[in-house]
Amino acid sequence: MIRFCNVTKIYPNGVRALIDVSFSIERGEFVFVVGPSGAGKTTLTKLICREELPTRGQVLVNGKNVARLRPNEVANLRQRIGMVFQDFRLLPRKTVFENVALALEIAGASWREIRKRVPEVLAKVGLEDKARCFPHQLSGGEQQRVAIARALVNRPFLLMADEPTGNLDPQTSWDLLQLLLKINEEGTTVLMVTHAWDLVQLVGKRVISLQEGRLTEELPAWGNYRYGT
Ligand code: ADP
Ligand code: ADP
Repeated sequence: MIRFCNVTKIYPNGVRALIDVSFSIERGEFVFVVGPSGAGKTTLTKLICREELPTRGQVLVNGKNVARLRPNEVANLRQRIGMVFQDFRLLPRKTVFENVALALEIAGASWREIRKRVPEVLAKVGLEDKARCFPHQLSGGEQQRVAIARALVNRPFLLMADEPTGNLDPQTSWDLLQLLLKINEEGTTVLMVTHAWDLVQLVGKRVISLQEGRLTEELPAWGNYRYGT
């Protein structure tokens, strides 16, 4: 589904953010991307949704070289990738319902679809009773779950979460990871960038590790261990 072939990314200022990186991610996988600050993790996510283009090498998403996509295909790609960030990025003057509904509206959904789909996805993240709240009325963990609902509402083929637990306490981080694992078990491919080694080690999922732009190690999911089953 995602394939990096010898990808190098050099920003205009000369920073080499990724150097000759190759890996692939199959449909249905849960993959952690780890590494110190500045290692190139965010750059990797931006290449997948074509916010950045590789300097050398190819990024293939669903078999297509993202560098060759036409503008309407780029828009379509971004609608089909759910993104979650450390700082939630909710619209503060819109309700939970409206924050999630907006992603559907942009994708061209009818009001009827919105009325059906938003409550469904809020129920999936355990926030069915918060639809009328504004973001500031929610805890950090709840706000992040709204962001996950928004990311999921268009049924993405890939959910990418960049440090989603970076602003959350340990218990809330753990709960959030459980939610992402559940979403993965239901079939969505998940790529999670994280510094939280403790979390990574507690769940047996694949780990891609970056150091100064290079892919340094690839640990497969270990054993048959599956969290929560
Ligand atoms: P990480 O997510 O692992 O912290 P990033 O992918 O954000 O790493 O950054 C990798 C390197 O690229 C860093 O040295 C960073 O300063 C640099 N970088 C990131 N974005 C840009 C940009 N838009 N322009 C120039 N340099 C950048
Ligand atoms: P009621 O229960 O009063 O009939 P609705 O069914 O119209 O309310 O709305 C249910 C939820 O949908 C509420 O959380 C509300 O904030 C939200 N909502 C209503 N209209 C819109 C709209 N145009 N855009 C986004 N959200 C809306």
